[in-house]
Amino acid sequence: AQKYHKVVEENRNLYNMVQDLKGNIRVYCRIRPLFGSETKGVIDFIGDDDSLVVVDPVKPQKDGRKVFQFNRVFGPTATQDDVFADTRPLIRSVMDGYNVCIFAYGQTGSGKTHTMSGPSIGSTRELGINYLALQDLFQLSAKRKDIMKYDMQVQMVEIYNEQFHNLENLTIIKLEIRSCLGEDNVALPDASMHHVMSTSDVIRLMKFGETNRAVGSTAINNRSSRSHSVLTIHVNGEDVSGGRIHSCLHLVDLAGSERVDKSEVTGEGLKETQYINKSLSSLGDVIMALAQKNSHVPYRNSKLTLLLQSSLGGHAKTLMFAHVSPEGDSFGETISTLKFAQRVSTVELGAASANKESSEVLELKAQIESLRKALANKE
Ligand code: ADP
Ligand code: MG
Repeated sequence: AQKYHKVVEENRNLYNMVQDLKGNIRVYCRIRPLFGSETKGVIDFIGDDDSLVVVDPVKPQKDGRKVFQFNRVFGPTATQDDVFADTRPLIRSVMDGYNVCIFAYGQTGSGKTHTMSGPSIGSTRELGINYLALQDLFQLSAKRKDIMKYDMQVQMVEIYNEQFHNLENLTIIKLEIRSCLGEDNVALPDASMHHVMSTSDVIRLMKFGETNRAVGSTAINNRSSRSHSVLTIHVNGEDVSGGRIHSCLHLVDLAGSERVDKSEVTGEGLKETQYINKSLSSLGDVIMALAQKNSHVPYRNSKLTLLLQSSLGGHAKTLMFAHVSPEGDSFGETISTLKFAQRVSTVELGAASANKESSEVLELKAQIESLRKALANKE
């Protein structure tokens, strides 16, 4: 068993080295489990470590099968620890002075909050990336205490209808743009800043923010799925020779990406929908422009991209989790999430012919897998 774990660990290190070579933008896909009450087995995910096949419930044969490839795919049985293990190196780079953004994208109910925060308010089981990240940063800081002194501060804000809200008291706050050295620096001076020294400080703070986000949702229907929540960890470090670093880790639980038919919503709902569509597509445009190394990156098109400007692009590292639900009724949303994620992904599918070959190989793998399943059912 020890030998096995060693090999797994070596593979993981190798994987992370390869990821580093691949650049600063990565996309992971996470498929949540199917719940008992849902239409079963209509969508079949036949996942590999970095690919999945989605089967159209209406035409499960040939042209109803679509292959998607990402830096990593986590199936329904993947645990919070599995997900964190492949996120940790990125998070740790914050302590070396890199800015990092992690986004959870997907339709409402696909598992965004599960990945970022965990299952529910008050539960300390299955904590998500927000907690595990801070826990890990504290550990790393303790480990490095003889060479580096770190200070960590946390801010929690929500972007709702293109306005910033302090998650502590749900007041509206202003974004300030400060020009220094020819570069625009964006900050939220009125969002409460908290020094955190331990994991319990963090848990207390985050439960508070989560509760507030939920309170907001009684006023306006389902607000937490109509707003983006941004948890920012500001890291300041000073080494023994007086060298300093300042970096940020942004952990973003995005608004639900579901396409709401505009003809069906009016008033407040329509405004919400327009703002969400605008900010999610702006985010996509920014990441795509960065991935393609375009000279113009349209940060100014939404509040979200404006806030995160200094942490997107340059040497900053970006990770997008594309969340999908396996249930049949979500087929359309699932495809649209995966297409969005594919668009911002830097995973090279290569030339058209190579692409075709790889999807044929994946397709064959998928067929073998479903035959194996059918056989197992017969036995
Ligand atoms: P979202 O934030 O995208 O709207 P949630 O994270 O609230 O979705 O997930 C919807 C429901 O599914 C929640 O009850 C959540 O606990 C559950 N869930 C989501 N992902 C998983 C998972 N990987 N394992 C177990 N339960 C999950
Ligand atoms: Mg949520």
